[in-house]
Amino acid sequence: MTANKLRRKYISFFESKGHAVLRSAPLIPENDPTVLFTTAGMHPLVPYLLGEPHPLGKRLVDCQKCVRTGDIDEVGDAVHLTFFEMLGNWSLGDYFKSEAIAFSHEFLCSSEWLGLDMERLSVSVFAGDDDAPFDEEAFEAWRSHGVPESRIGKLGKRHNWWGPAGKTGPCGPDTEMFYWTGEGAVPESFDPDDSRWVEIWNDVFMQYNKTGEGAFEPLEQRNVDTGMGLERVTAILQGEESCYDTELFQPIFEALDRARGVVSDGARSASERVIADHLRASVFIMADGVAPGNVDQPYVLRRLLRHAMLKGMNMGVSGAFLVPIARSVVETYSEAYPELSSSADAIYEEVEREEAQFAKTLEKGVREFEKSVASIPEHVKNKVISGRSAFKLFDTYGLPLELTVDLACERGFSVDVDGFEKAYRKHQEKSREGAAGKFQGGLADDSEKTSALHTATHLLHEALRRVLGPHVAQRGSNITAERLRFDFSHPAKMTPEEVSSVESIVNEEIAKGREVVCEEMSKDEALSSGAIGLFVDKYGDRVKVYSIGDFSKEICGGPHAESVAGLGRFRIKKEESVSRGVRRVKAVLE
Ligand code: ATP
Ligand code: MG
Repeated sequence: MTANKLRRKYISFFESKGHAVLRSAPLIPENDPTVLFTTAGMHPLVPYLLGEPHPLGKRLVDCQKCVRTGDIDEVGDAVHLTFFEMLGNWSLGDYFKSEAIAFSHEFLCSSEWLGLDMERLSVSVFAGDDDAPFDEEAFEAWRSHGVPESRIGKLGKRHNWWGPAGKTGPCGPDTEMFYWTGEGAVPESFDPDDSRWVEIWNDVFMQYNKTGEGAFEPLEQRNVDTGMGLERVTAILQGEESCYDTELFQPIFEALDRARGVVSDGARSASERVIADHLRASVFIMADGVAPGNVDQPYVLRRLLRHAMLKGMNMGVSGAFLVPIARSVVETYSEAYPELSSSADAIYEEVEREEAQFAKTLEKGVREFEKSVASIPEHVKNKVISGRSAFKLFDTYGLPLELTVDLACERGFSVDVDGFEKAYRKHQEKSREGAAGKFQGGLADDSEKTSALHTATHLLHEALRRVLGPHVAQRGSNITAERLRFDFSHPAKMTPEEVSSVESIVNEEIAKGREVVCEEMSKDEALSSGAIGLFVDKYGDRVKVYSIGDFSKEICGGPHAESVAGLGRFRIKKEESVSRGVRRVKAVLE
């Protein structure tokens, strides 16, 4: 079975069980500045897991694009990828454990669906501790499907517990499914430390609320949140040893072969795997609108591309080679992810530019290296490149330490690696201090602008409700120092008349110059006072409600302008579609 087929099967299985199908959210979180990338299918669904009703109902299924930079050190092994796809199904206060486990079991083992060999399956459940009891319900559910007791691991929080995401909030036990990928007979019992038992699926049962006092209270809305790795399961279904042996990677490796001018015998080295992994991740990140740069997501992207280039150089590739590999990624995925084809040209252009720029920097670095080598007199016996020089080559020219060591080796030199690390640490400390100083200044400057745009967002939200109707609800919001971006539910494109009446209403409100009043209250009080807004738990049990006269009243974490006087002139620059039923407005204050 191909990955494309597995993706479709998963979705149609859960559709047949009454789940509504969601599109993958972007890899860049829309409304969460605390993380750089979407790392799991549940991430974009957090508000709904916390209780906000989802417009498509209580049963959801999707295939979510994920990036985990935390797994980068494991990339190259059989099962950890930087970019992967997570298949997931959710129950928002609908079905719970026994049904969720029945779904997982049926999908994995029924011959109508994946038909995996039950004999190679193990599961784990929460063993219980002082906070919460043994998950007997999950244990019994698996037994009822014929999983022998010896193949049901009972493990503690470290393995079988999820959340809360912050200090408090929903959390609960989970059950994980593993498939035996080793050779020969399948072991009688499950061993969580044997990596040949590969985790394929995780069902999380949110049934507790962790309070500020550290107590675990039963939740009113109990949710199920599951995640299955598409690449891992594809490899298993194809009887392959690793994700890299599936059709998802073959065209990528072939493009690499062509760039190297070789014909491969099939087995792929760790370097080849890393190049393939990093290019896949890079292409997907770029398709979601990121270009290489020096901070945040752009920086991660730059590192992925540069790392891939260095690996290629190590393998003896000469000259630019990444664009054809990027092309093979786009071609492999264009059917499932049309955003790849639509931004393909821009992606190739960026990859080409980054590659050329890094090549130039490296060239300068190598010349600089030759200079430091030449500065060491002939008669010196211990030919050592100092830690300071090695660090300068790294810091100024991007020459990674390993490359300096290689170059040195070729000439019978060594490198003072300890000295390099010392210089590196010293530099890090300095830049941390520098960043702290800069941040304060920069923040003070920007915070006024972002607070003003934040307040304008509340005016916009209410104006949209007045012009379009009370069905308008926030779906996302993102503010930079330059503009606001607001996503909301609405079934149709806004007409030019609607756009201009929204603008006029907001500007009339600004002209009134009223104060922005902030009150703290309990969630219940906030709701009964008619406040609108995303009801996200990260604000704690008590919430802030910001009011602007009798015009707007919204639950929000702030910060806001003190009054609407001086916000400036509000103008909508763009109105566009985000997904079915969701529109996006970008606006500025001039
Ligand atoms: P592992 O312990 O194997 O790293 P995990 O506990 O981090 O897995 P979850 O966070 O539960 O995994 O994610 C759900 C599913 O997503 C996993 O069961 C697995 O199939 C898949 N998955 C997780 N991380 C990766 C990765 N880096 N590459 C490919 N698939 C992954
Ligand atoms: Mg992991």
